[in-house]
Amino acid sequence: MATTEKISPGMQQYLDIKKSYPDAFLLFRMGDFYELFYEDAVKAAQILELTLTSRNKNSDKPIPMAGVPYHSIQQYIDTLVDLGHKVAIAEQMEDPKTAVGVVKRDVVQVITPGTAVDALNNGKENNFLVAIETDESAYALSYLDLATGEFFVTSLSDFETVTDEISSLKAREVVMGYEPSEVELQILENQLNVLVSRETIGFDNADLIDYGLSALEISVTSKLLNYIMTTQKRQLTHLQPVKHYEIKDFLLMDAASKKSLDLISNARTGKKMGSLYWLLDETKTAMGTRMLRTWIDRPLVSESAIQKRQAIIQTFLDHFFERSDLTETLKGVYDIERLAARVSFGKANPKDLLQLAQTLSNVPAIKAVLTDMQSDVLFSVIGQLDEIPELFELIRNAIDENAPAIIMDGNIIKSGFNATLDDYRVIMRDGTSWIAELETKERATSGISNLKIDYNKKDGYYFHITNSNLSQVPEHFFRKATLKNSERYGTEALAKLESQMLDARENSANLEYELFLQVREQTEKFITRIQKLAKVIAGVDVLQSLAVVAENNHYIKPDIIKNGQEIHIKNGRHAVVEKVMGAQEYVPNSIDFDEKTMIQLITGPNMSGKSTYMRELALTVVMAQLGSYIPADSVLLPIFDAIFTRIGAADDLISGQSTFMVEMMEANHAIRRATKNSLILFDELGRGTATYDGIALAQAIVEYIHENVGAKTLFATHYHELVALETVLEHLTNVHVATLEENGEVTFLHKIETGPADKSYGIHVAKIAGLPSDLLERASVILSELEDGTVDMKVPPVIPVQSSQSESQQLDLFGESSELAEKIRAIDIMNLTPMAAMNELFELKKLV
Ligand code: ADP
Repeated sequence: MATTEKISPGMQQYLDIKKSYPDAFLLFRMGDFYELFYEDAVKAAQILELTLTSRNKNSDKPIPMAGVPYHSIQQYIDTLVDLGHKVAIAEQMEDPKTAVGVVKRDVVQVITPGTAVDALNNGKENNFLVAIETDESAYALSYLDLATGEFFVTSLSDFETVTDEISSLKAREVVMGYEPSEVELQILENQLNVLVSRETIGFDNADLIDYGLSALEISVTSKLLNYIMTTQKRQLTHLQPVKHYEIKDFLLMDAASKKSLDLISNARTGKKMGSLYWLLDETKTAMGTRMLRTWIDRPLVSESAIQKRQAIIQTFLDHFFERSDLTETLKGVYDIERLAARVSFGKANPKDLLQLAQTLSNVPAIKAVLTDMQSDVLFSVIGQLDEIPELFELIRNAIDENAPAIIMDGNIIKSGFNATLDDYRVIMRDGTSWIAELETKERATSGISNLKIDYNKKDGYYFHITNSNLSQVPEHFFRKATLKNSERYGTEALAKLESQMLDARENSANLEYELFLQVREQTEKFITRIQKLAKVIAGVDVLQSLAVVAENNHYIKPDIIKNGQEIHIKNGRHAVVEKVMGAQEYVPNSIDFDEKTMIQLITGPNMSGKSTYMRELALTVVMAQLGSYIPADSVLLPIFDAIFTRIGAADDLISGQSTFMVEMMEANHAIRRATKNSLILFDELGRGTATYDGIALAQAIVEYIHENVGAKTLFATHYHELVALETVLEHLTNVHVATLEENGEVTFLHKIETGPADKSYGIHVAKIAGLPSDLLERASVILSELEDGTVDMKVPPVIPVQSSQSESQQLDLFGESSELAEKIRAIDIMNLTPMAAMNELFELKKLV
């Protein structure tokens, strides 16, 4: 019987709608509540801590149900979306009072992690929604931020680069334009932690063809647009024209490198504090903060573009007083990029428009202070600072400075903006005194000394007359109500006044609402100009921020030479480490590569400063190419096309097969992709495996870079044996970290010097770490025995020449002792990431 249970028409409507949104929580508006049913209700009740009830309680198939009151819906949506879920909002599409049959309902918006515009962060970060498309030979990637309208597209050669882009965009949702492979899906969902959505239909947008995009790019952008249209269900005038970019227009860094260099967040804590972003952020506007993040994420490769930024920073440094004024004016700038989006979404309230006007009112001051700096490099910036006077006038004239954030209750529109509204207001204001006049007049004519006019909701305005005076009630009074000790009367004049006043109140609120919507609609016409202005102000903000940081920390302007072959950094510092530890403590280091030098092999004990030195170079390159000044006495750099790193933070090097695998994968990635214009940083490569194995690999990699890649490379190693390479590799030089040894005590000076290190100070480090003294003594004894020659560790191991495998070995492929069998046995399946598994498979195939 239960299976044939009758479903109510309302429930049928729910089920019909839900069918189109199987992957979203459906919030179904019923009166003052949004209701969830079935699985949605069970899951949401748990996540949102709602009470789970049920419909049809008494039937043998009750329907689980949970509800949230309509006025607090936003916080529930935010929570669900924040956790990576989608939420579909079904509203009542007609007034339930007048509806015939079941109230018409429809989904008005689907909110997803990638399309959420409210309150996910404080606007200091973009929320990018990414879409990917492939034609098997290449990929196209498009992304947009619904909160700001920014919209981009690019083509990429492989899925690995796609994942790098997604992770540097910090996207939370990816729209697949094609059916991803199992491996791709795994990587997206488990490694990048994004919500994967599908969109197979492209939005028909002829404009896209005009942007000169490839077919694949058109496909991905149109699918992304379609996804936006089908989820948002509204026209979005603030979406900017799609901008094409190429990753080679920027300094290429993969996600791992960005992470290990602490560019956007500190790799250890995951927080902004302790990152380059943190160091450089003296921005005053949210738009500037977001732009700075993009600049750090995508340093430039164009010499002229970098120099343009430098020139403006220099101007700001040369004009201290004007710059302080500029900083002050920027403080009055609101996030007009997001305000523009709110206008487009129909969400902007009077306060939002006031903030827009307030920002526009600051533009002349920004222009003036930039003009005062009298610098040619600012001309084009000044020219682009559009005050949008028409919009400013409109808002200034229309919106009251004290307008509330709500738009239904009036007090929004200024007097003088609309004549009818002004009339209403005169009536509302003067009505009270007219009533007082009427009261005085009637008191005189009637002779009732305590005659007064009162008001209540039920009877409106009335003359209050006590029983003792009833005999004196004038002819033209009519009775409205009788009470125990008094009666209430009306007159024609009073009724007229009353209706005028009530009408005025109601009409004026309605009129204000309408006028406000008109102003908002007119504002929408200026969205493109607002967005352009936003970008210009953001750029000025970032540059003033870089100037402030440069000044506070005594940075200098780097000289950057396209196609240069030399690196000369005099007394450079690692900007973030210096900031954290203090300039006095930090030991500056010079880095020099003449045009012949390709590889610096850095030796020195652990904890002596090798990786800090390497990171100093990488960070200097990133800072220089994003336009920033540098902590050093002087800097000369070529323009790099890419940075590749394998720098293990101590804590991510948990020993084990898969970690070593990651290390090798990153090395592979670097040597395959790097060009002679790239920078490679390899730190302690090979330490994840057995010593000889490690040395052999490290040496082979150094040789390979030297012979085949030609990238500028810093190679830090504690394999002292490798220093001998200097004699055979022409473009390799040894440097080491200086140490001071006095009375058996070793001090690390953190100073890099030419030539190889002569000792490894492992025992010293072990002592600092607090190992028992008899253990340390024993280690010293073993060491000196080794050094005495009992075992000669100093001779570099002979690297066997690779010979072609003999036939008998090949036949032994699956024999007990074969290499292949050994390898398969050694695979630790439980600790293998999908990517690592792919690589293992690849290796095994190669072996076969
Ligand atoms: P290694 O890579 O040789 O193991 P690190 O570069 O990690 O060593 O440096 C170890 C510690 O030494 C750092 O955490 C830092 O405190 C300190 N250090 C490194 N370089 C410097 C420097 N130039 N000036 C001051 N302290 C430094």
